[in-house]
Amino acid sequence: MIIVKVGGSDGINYDAVCNDIADLWLGGQKLILVHGGSSETNRIAALLGHPPKFVTSPSGYTSRFTDRQTLEIFEMVYCGKMNKGLVERLQKRGVNAVGLSGLDGRIFEGKHKDSVRSVEDGKTKILRGDHTGTVEKVNTHLLNLLLENNYLPVLTPPGSSFEGVAVNVDGDRASAAVATAMKAEALLLLSNVPGLLRNFPDESSLITQIPALDVESYLEFAQDRMKKKVLGAAEAVQGGCGRVIFGDARLDKPVSQALAGKGTVVS
Ligand code: ADP
Repeated sequence: MIIVKVGGSDGINYDAVCNDIADLWLGGQKLILVHGGSSETNRIAALLGHPPKFVTSPSGYTSRFTDRQTLEIFEMVYCGKMNKGLVERLQKRGVNAVGLSGLDGRIFEGKHKDSVRSVEDGKTKILRGDHTGTVEKVNTHLLNLLLENNYLPVLTPPGSSFEGVAVNVDGDRASAAVATAMKAEALLLLSNVPGLLRNFPDESSLITQIPALDVESYLEFAQDRMKKKVLGAAEAVQGGCGRVIFGDARLDKPVSQALAGKGTVVS
């Protein structure tokens, strides 16, 4: 079992990702696809007159502030346009894909964080009304029902809070939770960079190998959203997933290339 997470950044070649996944799946490889949709959500939110608001926590993590209206736009893009676009690509290639959000059947379930600490002009403020959460439980029963019947699950945030409220969850950390719960042998985190770069954005500074016991010390190389990927990798390997690979989703055969070790391998 492998978990493939494809991000939502500009430049990702979704056709190449789906071609590769279809070949692997039809060749007998069990897998789950998890995806993002950040760039498209930002564009559509701006068009709808509700541009994204990002907050930086006192410990330096950047995240989207998700009020109710943002959550609804987020659902339109992630669960609608992005999810159905991937399902359609897979269906056209002969794969019986089923698109679900983490809210459906509580596939991603966890704690709702209603307020967030945000550093603005050097001052820490508390913002309330955030629809953000973590993934503490994965509905493996539903995922196994699909897989055992030869359906390929295509998953996306949001998830469900323990109270049943839709919450925005980080896609990388959600895929790490799926990889752990499904006892996957590999988790691939594909984005629009070759992997973790020592001197971002210099693509020749690729870090090719990170020892599993030392993932946290590589956090210093990651800026903003890349930090979540490094954290997700740490969580997955600590949870028992054999390998996590940060791979490039702009390439031809991006899944096979990452599986062959191209990118940053955490093991
Ligand atoms: P996605 O939505 O595709 O998963 P993210 O935007 O969450 O991707 O994270 C990938 C981004 O992280 C890259 O496009 C890059 O701008 C940024 N980044 C920050 N630091 C690094 C780094 N050290 N190496 C690679 N990418 C980095």
